Amino acid sequence: MTDSKRLRIAIQKSGRLSDDSIALLKAIGIKLNIRDRLLIAHSTNEAIDLLRVRDDDIPGLVMDGVVDLGFIGENELEEKMLERQAAGKPAEFEVLRRLDYGGCRLSIAVPKEFSYDGAASLAGKKVATTYPYLLERYFKEQGIKAKAVMLTGSVEVAPRAGVADAICDLVSTGATLEANGLVEEETIFRSKAVLIQRADGELNDEKQALINRLVPRIDGVMQAKE
Ligand code: ATP
Ligand code: ZN
Repeated sequence: MTDSKRLRIAIQKSGRLSDDSIALLKAIGIKLNIRDRLLIAHSTNEAIDLLRVRDDDIPGLVMDGVVDLGFIGENELEEKMLERQAAGKPAEFEVLRRLDYGGCRLSIAVPKEFSYDGAASLAGKKVATTYPYLLERYFKEQGIKAKAVMLTGSVEVAPRAGVADAICDLVSTGATLEANGLVEEETIFRSKAVLIQRADGELNDEKQALINRLVPRIDGVMQAKE
């Protein structure tokens, strides 16, 4: 088990945010001994334990107070916040810093053959996505009656598979969309990685002092890259 006196930080175990999050922790002077298989990694020079999990789990771990800090994409954070609010679960957290990696956008894309003429073209359509709460919020804001179809993977093949008329997925270069005969039409959310902290104010003084020492170092590392 982790020692509750040590600061617990959740990071993505393996994926697009992992390397940059670990590089940032190392750049601010935290020595880490990460073994690939293990859920937990201990710092050898600071009272810090890393919890290495799927990114989907990170917002909940922070909002439930299981970990003190988390590195997470704003897209996943906002989606989970909306999901938890809808379920009446606690959804509080504090964003300590917006970071300089993990940039992407959540966009609606349609097959080339789709005669798209503004968001109203989506009325009555099915849109496949991993982010149904963000998408439904967009539909609501736009006053469109359309259906978000939840898929946890292979969203970009949904139109070809006859599962949906359009998709709403994360894009960085657009190459995946292009390869699947899709055209990006609307950006509904712009995202970067953020460092978040649990909001319940139950951090003890030592942990808070450690956070207060680490966050300015993050600023220093980001400024040095500019
Ligand atoms: P996990 O196995 O942890 O659930 P995942 O497949 O959900 O991983 P990744 O593809 O590793 O997630 O993406 C993690 C985060 O990286 C995204 O939620 C997003 O914030 C960010 N990201 C940056 N660029 C992209 C991109 N082009 N496509 C997808 N995600 C991106
Ligand atoms: Zn995920």
